[in-house]
Amino acid sequence: MKPALREWLRNERRLGVRHCRVSREALAPTETTPTPPAAPPRTVAVAVAPALFNGAPGLPPLCSCELTPEEARSQLENLDAAHVRGCTQCRLHESRTQTVFGVGHPRPALVFVGEGPGADEDREGVPFVGRAGQLLTRMIAAMMLTREQVYICNVIKCRPPDNRTPAEDEMETCAPYLWRQLAILRPRVIVALGRPAAQTLLATKAPIGQLRGEFRDFPPPPLAHLGLPPTKVMPTFHPAYLLRSPGEKAKAWEDLKQVMRFLGLRAPVSR
Ligand code: URA
Repeated sequence: MKPALREWLRNERRLGVRHCRVSREALAPTETTPTPPAAPPRTVAVAVAPALFNGAPGLPPLCSCELTPEEARSQLENLDAAHVRGCTQCRLHESRTQTVFGVGHPRPALVFVGEGPGADEDREGVPFVGRAGQLLTRMIAAMMLTREQVYICNVIKCRPPDNRTPAEDEMETCAPYLWRQLAILRPRVIVALGRPAAQTLLATKAPIGQLRGEFRDFPPPPLAHLGLPPTKVMPTFHPAYLLRSPGEKAKAWEDLKQVMRFLGLRAPVSR
């Protein structure tokens, strides 16, 4: 057993949560076992979605069909290279080292969406690689998954100075990139990590304490005009918050277990 997983499990036991084994078959797709196995034949790859080009003119239309992992990877790479990397749509481009697009499986069952890159992510160009990212990796491992089997990204692609919370207009400007990522990825569940991610995905101002722990429909009515594929969002606490408040880990674990059950992964039984 990997040390990271052992640590998370030890924590769980301390918090009174029991674990059991998850069958290999129940695991999310890997590079060698992609889902869906193959995209059905189709005539059009994309369709024009009515709106949210706000702050990001010239973006490609939202992807409107199921792609193979290879097609999805290529579209993600194109979105990143042609649009995100050179983005100057908001003030955050002035202070960033580089943009942080996303990593993981191009057609995953599960996507984690965080808030925005911190100093480590800004340096490495990869989301969730700092302390909070290490905890996220352990949370994913506790679900008997790997970072390669899921997709990880943020609402905003540039680090806010001094790691401040992204401003409303910064998230609005960057959101069209996230919508396009999600339209390509087409996960069965999105885990929204923390308030900014949950509020952006669900177009609400409700606090994370109120939102977490229940599956919500995505897109919510205010985003219905975007034409995004319907899926579920599970809001939960951000790993950075869990590092500051380890007593809340049990609640986050309950949320992740619901996700496991929804995806057909054998979730551990609680005492
Ligand atoms: N926090 C986030 O929300 N995203 C990251 O990528 C890192 C820390």
